Amino acid sequence: MRLLVSACLLGVGCRYDGQSNQLPQLEQLLKQHTCIPVCAELFGGLPTPRVPAERQGNRVVTRDGDDVTEAFVRGTAEVLRLADLYHCRAALLKERSPSCGSGQIYDGTFTKTLTLGDGLTAQMLKKHGITVYGESQIEELIGSRPFFFSI
Ligand code: SF4
Repeated sequence: MRLLVSACLLGVGCRYDGQSNQLPQLEQLLKQHTCIPVCAELFGGLPTPRVPAERQGNRVVTRDGDDVTEAFVRGTAEVLRLADLYHCRAALLKERSPSCGSGQIYDGTFTKTLTLGDGLTAQMLKKHGITVYGESQIEELIGSRPFFFSI
């Protein structure tokens, strides 16, 4: 299937610290799905490396106190546009990120404390009916191939 995938999971060094979160199962994922790399933070115009940010309610704020909500909203709109353009019905996104996190994110205190909630991009994708998987659920995407008997 066509899958939106957090670019950092595909090996792109777009994390706030310039590193990636390349998946150990990347080769298998690419064999089974057409992956569209997306990074809402870069799409929104933020640089790499950049000061880390966390959600504080409807705002996204950097550790230095700068409000970067506008960039996150702009980047999310671009991800939604690509989801539509490529007819993606599912996304595999980096867990705990203020953009890509799904189900649990950092709580806005920059103390590595998790709280229930979604990153802005994950939230909007779900709102548009796109199923969001985190990287800990990757087996659901690569372990679901039909089993063929050879005769
Ligand atoms: Fe990775 Fe998403 Fe953060 Fe970009 S916005 S670095 S894709 S987690």
